[in-house]
Amino acid sequence: MIYGKYKNARNAAWQCLIDYNITSLPVSVLDIAKSAGIKVIKNSKASWLLPNESGISIILGKQWYIVYNDSCSKQRCRFTVAHELGHIFLGHELEKRNRLTKTFKQSLSYAEQEANIFASRLLAPACVIWALSLKTANEISSVCDISHTAAEFRAERMRTLYKRNRFLTAPLEREVYKNFKVFIQESKRNQNRFI
Ligand SMILES: [Zn+2]
Repeated sequence: MIYGKYKNARNAAWQCLIDYNITSLPVSVLDIAKSAGIKVIKNSKASWLLPNESGISIILGKQWYIVYNDSCSKQRCRFTVAHELGHIFLGHELEKRNRLTKTFKQSLSYAEQEANIFASRLLAPACVIWALSLKTANEISSVCDISHTAAEFRAERMRTLYKRNRFLTAPLEREVYKNFKVFIQESKRNQNRFI
C-alpha cells in the first residue's frame, strides 16, 4: 500500500493506523511491517548499515527489508522502523544502493522530514494523546514507548494542538479515535484508579 497520493505524512499515518487495525498504544511497528510483508532485520545480523546510518529500507526484487541499528535503545529502534515505514508507505523516490538493491534517496531532506512526521504521528497519534490528557514528554514517552527526545518534540506540538483545540475534525482522525476508543476508556479507568 502506497500512501504517497495523500501528499501528507499526517494523513498517511492516520490511514496506516486504520489499515493495520491499530487499536492501542504502544503501536507495534513490527506487527505493521509483518502485515505489510516487509522484513525487519537487526543490523547486528545483516551488517548492511554504513557507520552513520540508524536505519535503511532496501528493496531487493519485490521484497522490502528494513534494517535498523539494534545497538540503539528500544525506543529509538521503534522510531527508526516507523521512519522507514514512512519512506515505504509514502512512496519516496528510490536510488540504487548497489547492483541489486535500491534504497531511498538520502539527499532529499523533504523526504526525511516527511518520514519523521509519519513516524511521530504513527507512534504518538494526537487524538489519543489528547483523549488521555497526556501533556508532558515523560507521559507521552511512557505511554507511546518513544524516546524522551521524540516525546519532547511531540509534547511541544501537542501544546499547539491543545491551544487550537480542533481535534477530531478530520474524518480520518475520527476513524482512528473510534478504533482506539476501548483502549482510551480502559486507560482512563486505570488512570483514575491511581489518583
Ligand atoms: Zn530516512
